Amino acid sequence: MTIAPAVRSGTTQRLSLTSQPVLRQGARGPSVSTLQQRLRAHGFNVSVDGVFGPNTAAAVRSLQQRKGLGVDGVVGPRTWAALNASATPAPAPGGGGNPTLRQGARGAAVTTLQNRLRAHGYGVSVDGVFGPNTANAVRSFQSRHGLSADGVVGPRTWAALNGAGGVLPPVGGGMQVTGYVNGSPRTISISSVGNGKYLRTDAAARFNAMKAEAARAGISLSVNSGFRTMEQQRYLYNLYLQGRGNLAARPGYSNHQGGLSADINMPGGYSGSTYRWLRANAGRYGFVNDVGGEPWHWTFRG
Ligand SMILES: [Zn+2]
Repeated sequence: MTIAPAVRSGTTQRLSLTSQPVLRQGARGPSVSTLQQRLRAHGFNVSVDGVFGPNTAAAVRSLQQRKGLGVDGVVGPRTWAALNASATPAPAPGGGGNPTLRQGARGAAVTTLQNRLRAHGYGVSVDGVFGPNTANAVRSFQSRHGLSADGVVGPRTWAALNGAGGVLPPVGGGMQVTGYVNGSPRTISISSVGNGKYLRTDAAARFNAMKAEAARAGISLSVNSGFRTMEQQRYLYNLYLQGRGNLAARPGYSNHQGGLSADINMPGGYSGSTYRWLRANAGRYGFVNDVGGEPWHWTFRG
């Protein structure tokens, strides 16, 4: 009977865990390789070359956004901690969950928090940035609900926020979110166009009227992508940069972020009956097909 020799394995991993300095674009070396391996474990398709270039930076920013960290592309202790935590799947558009949030956080989860606070009567602006006003509202909410008023939104605070009174405010019939137009954030109201998708409330009303007319003609207008949060656009843009996704506009600059564009399920592309119906009728509802090569992308021009 022979006994196989012990294989020395795991050395690289042990080494990498001891070496996690603050990293930013331009850095090189083994710790950057570690970073890139961790990013890959979290679903980002960066190459492991030990060079912190633009693709690695985009992946870091996307991860930070997803985790509710400050989105600066710099890998410090909190970003390392998030990278070392078990990887979670990419966020479903519209998802994002209820991560623990504190002052300084940014992103879709903060937008959700601010919408919940508004539903509870706090006049915070919905800008996706957890600043001092949001922190004050959180502390006030916590003390009102018998929670410790530490300003940190953990599971118990989320549960209270999601409880009675936590229904989204029907302001103008829509939901208040942070949209982006030409790179500038603004609060917009969005409403459903079915399929779990949303457009700016005025565009949604026109879209739904168009959808009803189309249905009478036997055409189904089903939206695959409507309003996108900054987090969702960053995610799609990151996929595009990695060659894994469709052309996506720079975050902040997509008409989807203003709630104005709908990607419509388009069987047959330009020669299908859906496209022909839209070309003949969408103009009456204010929608135009404004991206060449994308028969599915229709934008509300009012
Ligand atoms: Zn589109």
